[in-house]
Amino acid sequence: MKNFWLYFVRIVSLLLFLFVMFRNISVIWIVLYGITLIAAFFFGRFFCGWICPINTCMIATDKIVKKHKLPQRKTPSWLSSGWFSWLLFIAFIAFVVTSQVLKRQLLPIPLYFAGVAIILTFFFLPEVFHNAICPFGTLQKLCGRTALFSRRVVTEKCTGCKTCVSVCPPNAISIDPKNHRASIDVALCHQCFECETVCPAQAIIYKRKS
Ligand code: SF4
Ligand code: SF4
Repeated sequence: MKNFWLYFVRIVSLLLFLFVMFRNISVIWIVLYGITLIAAFFFGRFFCGWICPINTCMIATDKIVKKHKLPQRKTPSWLSSGWFSWLLFIAFIAFVVTSQVLKRQLLPIPLYFAGVAIILTFFFLPEVFHNAICPFGTLQKLCGRTALFSRRVVTEKCTGCKTCVSVCPPNAISIDPKNHRASIDVALCHQCFECETVCPAQAIIYKRKS
């Protein structure tokens, strides 16, 4: 049932996104994104997992890639520190402001990023775009890093089996080398249900920060 609502919201959001883009009223999408940024302080970056149309396109692409067993590379080391995503973010803001001043209209930039994300997913794991490239995700990461509510691991229940690690799209779960238990990086977590669904010990729950 949880997954039904997740996919329902994703499809409705994708349709809304296409509608506002092709009707040239993208300001509605900007307002929606702004609201989710504020909400990220409380509920994490659910925009990325539930609403973002780029992610929805990536999920469909990733399913095709996995079905055909095409190889996907991990995040290259030079991208993993995160500085590149901020560089791209600054370039993105500069581009938006310049296009607004020169053309006096908002360009459908998310559509361009969706194209980039789809192509990248054929060659790299989704974590690369989510964590190291997407400027919308970079801002969500910043606001959601100390989220009040999030999916979290109950350490006492976790057996360290790593099942959750393999299904997490943004690679937000790691196994602590000291206690061999999973932990979730809230800044990266998209608040989807993938890990919770597969955990054999029911060790992942949605809860308030302690
Ligand atoms: S799937 Fe569950 S039990 Fe296994 S490592 Fe993840 S949280 Fe722990
Ligand atoms: S699989 Fe779990 S940790 Fe990964 S993004 Fe989804 S809810 Fe967050």
